[in-house]
Amino acid sequence: MALIVQKYGGTSVGSIERIRNVAERVAKFKMLGHQVVVVVSAMSGETNRLIALAKEINKEPDPRELDVLVSTGEQITIALLAMALKDLGLKAKSYTGWQIPMHTDGAFNKARLESIEETAIRADLGSGHVVVVAGFQGIDSANNITTLGRGGSDTTGVALAAALHADECQIYTDVDGVYTTDPRIVPEARKLNTVTFEEMLELASLGSKVLQIRSVEFAGKYKVKLRVLSSFEDEGEGTLITFEEDSMEQPVISGIAFNRDEAKLTILGVPDKPGVAGHILAPIADANIDVDMIVQNVGHDGTTDFSFTVHRSEMQKALEVLGMVKSAIGAREVIGDDKIAKVSLVGVGMRTHAGVASRMFKALAGENINIQMISTSEIKISVVVDDKYMELAVRTLHQAFELENETAAKAAGN
Ligand code: ADP
Ligand code: ASP
Ligand code: MG
Repeated sequence: MALIVQKYGGTSVGSIERIRNVAERVAKFKMLGHQVVVVVSAMSGETNRLIALAKEINKEPDPRELDVLVSTGEQITIALLAMALKDLGLKAKSYTGWQIPMHTDGAFNKARLESIEETAIRADLGSGHVVVVAGFQGIDSANNITTLGRGGSDTTGVALAAALHADECQIYTDVDGVYTTDPRIVPEARKLNTVTFEEMLELASLGSKVLQIRSVEFAGKYKVKLRVLSSFEDEGEGTLITFEEDSMEQPVISGIAFNRDEAKLTILGVPDKPGVAGHILAPIADANIDVDMIVQNVGHDGTTDFSFTVHRSEMQKALEVLGMVKSAIGAREVIGDDKIAKVSLVGVGMRTHAGVASRMFKALAGENINIQMISTSEIKISVVVDDKYMELAVRTLHQAFELENETAAKAAGN
């Protein structure tokens, strides 16, 4: 007998028929003698619908009340799934986040899970129930309902698996695993049988929304056995997130991530002397704005240009801060650009293989795609390009590194 946590995303519970299918899958696992905890998202489109309603009242809805509102999406699906399970003759019980309780900090709309009360779940599992938990939500120390950020049900699933020491956490979604890139953008993308935890962490943080980044962080910290699978197929092993690297078999590049979440700020004609970067970035940090990529150009005529990226939602705030910095340091001009995209190659094989960057730049140049910024780490290379070339860049790189072909991708690593 194993204890399994299964998480079903919005599309997987998007209609009554699909909720019945989920119930049948859960029943199969029960039949095999396993204990099952199920985490569900809201029905697809529901969270967006609720946010849009809130925005009809106010463009910047009150964060506390927004969490009260959006958490109702998951309350609907837990009840419907528990009913469907009972309809199949199983014992089932639904729980909202506060009923468990799932304790979080007080950061509305992006709360972090702090601890989980397991007593009720363990008792229900012991008496043969399937426990159905609302994803994405919790309660803070002042009894406010909180939510965990978009895609947060993944994190609920993995955190529950960690707390309960589950044998496996299965993330059921509308694709049958983690692919070399989003199959919606590159139809030739290939499903990976395994991906290392480190790579998954990079892919998620660089924009692959198949798993919320915090869920991957939890999986790493608590060594949760995590698998991504399709809720629409009965067969298939999905993708296992592994903690070991098989260096012999490892392709150089495992996947490509992309996002349009960032904006670029450039400050032109900055006097080129020591301490410039600090003068520009300290006030940005003081304003609580996170900076991602940074480029300082080679100086000429005693001045230089300095660019960095921030989350797109913080561009206006950053522009205001830079306006003040400009006068203070005597720079010429400040420019904000939110028509950018970041495209990243990820692979642990990069540690042992040179030449990835040059191959990447050559492939992009071949399509006349200008690279505006570059940043690298041991296992990833990211470039910023014009937003309108993002999909072309992803397809070009997928082809250049022959990611559609497993043998070729691995051969490239030899
Ligand atoms: P759910 O509602 O089940 O949580 P999501 O929409 O959050 O599903 O995540 C699944 C989607 O992630 C897929 O439909 C796919 O378009 C997208 N995706 C992005 N990158 C990848 C990738 N590398 N592999 C698989 N899917 C990806
Ligand atoms: N329903 C929430 C969202 O749409 C949480 C999730 O689906 O994981 O972001
Ligand atoms: Mg998701």
